[in-house]
Amino acid sequence: MTAAFNDTSDVVHFIHGERVRGAGARSQPIFNPATGEAARKLVLGDAADVDMAVRSAKAAFPAWSDMPPIRRARVMHNFLHLMNRHRDELAAIITAEHGKVFSDAQGEVARGIDIIEFACGIPQLLKGDYTEQVSTGIDNWTTRQALGVVAGITPFNFPCMVPCWMFPVAIAAGNTFILKPSERDPSASLFIADLFRQAGLPSGVFNVVQGDKTVVDALLTHPDVKAISFVGSTPIANYIYETGAKHGKRVQALGGAKNHMVVMPDADIDKAIDALVGAAYGSAGERCMAISVALLVGDVADRIMPRLADRARELIVKNGMEQDAEMGPIVTREALERIEGYIAEGVREGATLVVDGRGLKVPGHEKGFFTGGTLFDNVTPEMRIYKEEIFGPVLACVRVKDFTQAVELINAHEFGNGVACFTSDGHIAREFGRRIEVGMVGINVPIPVPMAWHGFGGWKRSLFGDMHAYGEEGVRFYTRQKSIMQRWSESIEKGAEFAMPTAK
Ligand code: NAD
Repeated sequence: MTAAFNDTSDVVHFIHGERVRGAGARSQPIFNPATGEAARKLVLGDAADVDMAVRSAKAAFPAWSDMPPIRRARVMHNFLHLMNRHRDELAAIITAEHGKVFSDAQGEVARGIDIIEFACGIPQLLKGDYTEQVSTGIDNWTTRQALGVVAGITPFNFPCMVPCWMFPVAIAAGNTFILKPSERDPSASLFIADLFRQAGLPSGVFNVVQGDKTVVDALLTHPDVKAISFVGSTPIANYIYETGAKHGKRVQALGGAKNHMVVMPDADIDKAIDALVGAAYGSAGERCMAISVALLVGDVADRIMPRLADRARELIVKNGMEQDAEMGPIVTREALERIEGYIAEGVREGATLVVDGRGLKVPGHEKGFFTGGTLFDNVTPEMRIYKEEIFGPVLACVRVKDFTQAVELINAHEFGNGVACFTSDGHIAREFGRRIEVGMVGINVPIPVPMAWHGFGGWKRSLFGDMHAYGEEGVRFYTRQKSIMQRWSESIEKGAEFAMPTAK
């Protein structure tokens, strides 16, 4: 097993190819959630740091965007190779600051690397359309060109994978990039920046500015930032979308979730239980695609609840660097308190608390931010624990009478990120896929995170903007279309034309 990450130096910015402390006077601790102790210090940037990064990225843009796509792809290939070589070190960094178990962190890194691999195909992805002879002697074609300086603002829960949803595609397409990582687990961003530099990326093409709302607001209002990609909670996504649009930027802002999993009476019950346990409690429920609601149809609840309860009680919760850990700590003490507050609220609202994860102590890690898996039965749609995103290891089970009621509940929910249906009936599966108002759908797949070339995005208040992340939608988001019409006929007709040109 890879050694635990234990760098204690300050986490700073990465601007114009080097680590810089910047002008910001503020800092805050970065915790190891398993021990509960401050492990590093994060330097928080300000508007002057953002401006320095934007100026560097702007200066790098003309040469980088002019470089033939195949040569940009070669830099991306070098970076891919380095990311593969250092994937376990990166995973250990993630476990140290996020808390997720090491094998899960390895999975996160692997899914991020998939997108770098996708971005290596940029010459093909940027190919335009061409029509010869749209009119006599005239051809018309379309190309897609990079936007300029673009920025990404990312959440704590995937400090490698979510930035990789953005910058590989943006940079391969010819843009220059500024990443604003989460304050909770920023070390991965610097590790990635160092590898990218080693891969031969010119200075200024990829920059990192650490910080909080001050940095975000400076990016949202900077006149030279052309597009913003955001992933995080819904209230902030909404704010980013509105503020970015007001300042003339292209914005994609992915928000929160409350993902449902329907279990039909004809489902393979063993597989459904495995899926629910992994998808509800994996990464301590701190995944935007975690299953937080089970819709148990007909007699399913009576059949699975006792077994689900046993599995929730048996979860092995400990430091994520220990090999047999199934669930690690919660990212911060505040998040732990929020989650345990929701559990108290569920009890107050009248849901049946079948398994209570609160107050869990892990021997040797008494100050760590741990809670166990929590399971509620008899949850109803009016309850806050049904409506709101808890973002922790809490599974709310709702008993529904039939498939139609399950679909109606899901379609009425504020969020529409991911959803799953477990069934052995092909017709039900097909109807579910067609009728459900959610962006990413799993049939007998609990966490249907699309592969790199398919693109990721929810519906309703889980996504603001019209383009999904990565895949071909990502390429479209980071480029703008240009149409060129050209005539090189031997004798150009003389005289002005006042009528709308039509094909001749
Ligand atoms: P968050 O919204 O608190 O923070 C996300 C980013 O926004 C961070 O970089 C943070 O510094 C910045 N930020 C926070 N408050 C801000 C403010 N007031 N003004 C400007 N910027 C601000 O989210 P989080 O707690 O880091 O991550 C968890 C959330 O992200 C959950 O809601 C989860 O569902 C969501 N998420 C969604 C997806 C998706 O694809 N839809 C993926 C991952 C996470």
